[in-house]
Amino acid sequence: MSRPRPPSASYAADVAVLGGGPTGAAAAIALAEAGRSVVVVERSRYDSARVGEALPPEVRTPLAELGVWDRFLACGPSPSPGVAYAWGEHALKYHDFILNPVGPGWAVDRARFDAMLAAAAAARGARVLTATRPLSLGRGPAGGWTLVAASPDGPIGLRARALVDATGRASSPVRRLGGGRLVVDRLVGLVAFLEASGMEDRGTLVEAAEDGWWYTAPIPGGKVAAAFMTDADMVPKGRAARGALWRVRLHGACETRGRLEGRRVLIEPGMVLANTTLIKRPAWDGRAAAGDAAATLDPLSGQGIHRALCSGLDAARAVDAHLRGDPWALSRYSLQVASDFAADLAERARFYARERRWRGRPFWERRTGRPSPGGLTVS
Ligand SMILES: Cc1cc2nc3c(=O)[nH]c(=O)nc-3n(C[C@H](O)[C@H](O)[C@H](O)COP(=O)(O)OP(=O)(O)OC[C@H]3O[C@@H](n4cnc5c(N)ncnc54)[C@H](O)[C@@H]3O)c2cc1C
Repeated sequence: MSRPRPPSASYAADVAVLGGGPTGAAAAIALAEAGRSVVVVERSRYDSARVGEALPPEVRTPLAELGVWDRFLACGPSPSPGVAYAWGEHALKYHDFILNPVGPGWAVDRARFDAMLAAAAAARGARVLTATRPLSLGRGPAGGWTLVAASPDGPIGLRARALVDATGRASSPVRRLGGGRLVVDRLVGLVAFLEASGMEDRGTLVEAAEDGWWYTAPIPGGKVAAAFMTDADMVPKGRAARGALWRVRLHGACETRGRLEGRRVLIEPGMVLANTTLIKRPAWDGRAAAGDAAATLDPLSGQGIHRALCSGLDAARAVDAHLRGDPWALSRYSLQVASDFAADLAERARFYARERRWRGRPFWERRTGRPSPGGLTVS
């Protein structure tokens, strides 16, 4: 067996932030502002398509709090007039952003948006390591954490007093340390990207269907994301079969079909996880999970990015207080995550209950009423 290569570089920081998406970048900015040394470990180079492109007007508040509003406007978002719903009845209804005192919603290119936030974190003094993936994570000899990661220049070592897990819904690093998740449903998205010049000012469209629901969201640069959301057990295996299902279901969704008809598919439908979940222990022992790594919302809420930014800010405050010796900071943070999740579940149940046309169909049947504790699974 070959001996492991010695680290090509080693870093020490107050806080290691794993994952440089919206949550991780927000946490890194806030921690750097609080005077903490921060290293962000991000596995990508922000160079491939990401889902989650429609931002509600309220996103302005955390972006302003992070001091990145001007950077945001410079990264090319398109104002969004609102959301159109065909939900509970065939007629379209509109949730208009025009009268919102905060301003319009926004459509963003997610890879660009995430890269903008990571650049802002670096500008505040955080060290952002891209194309870098954790290989092992453990406790340091004097408390704190040690991490070995694979970087383009070879393995690197990192020591940190505290850890923020912002790796998204996979949340693998902290889960491996004993987190585990409560899983409320099996929602997945079959997401395709299509050519859509001239659609930027159309806003998001959400349409309920027999075995799930559709959303289409324009992206700056003449593209549109089109996702069929359904349960994992209703999706066949294999890319070709999934593409065929996406097309068959599109045929039955008249508003969405009308929007996409004749548009060229740029990226064929791929499957992404979209289930509602909660990590069992959001924070303890010098580590805090934040954003999707802590709790995932049903994308129907349209609040994922807003929540991610707020969660990054909350986690940063909790970890900073923990490092200042506040023994309850991480417990308070955990309670906050759990109570936000309970409120999200109640809101989700209310929204699904408004659609009654397909009562009896498994997708809708599974979403009526509150999930009973016995109905939750643990992964
Ligand atoms: C189908 C779908 C549609 C959605 N649409 C919307 C929408 O329109 N509007 C909205 O507001 N929200 C939407 N969301 C939700 C939104 O995308 C998420 O809530 C949001 O991206 C969470 O941000 P995050 O930073 O916590 O996680 P992520 O955005 O997942 O970021 C995690 C980061 O960690 C990195 N990473 C992962 N694993 C590792 C690792 N082991 N080591 C290092 N780095 C790692 C990833 O590369 C990534 O940069 C949608 C979600 C889905 C599934």
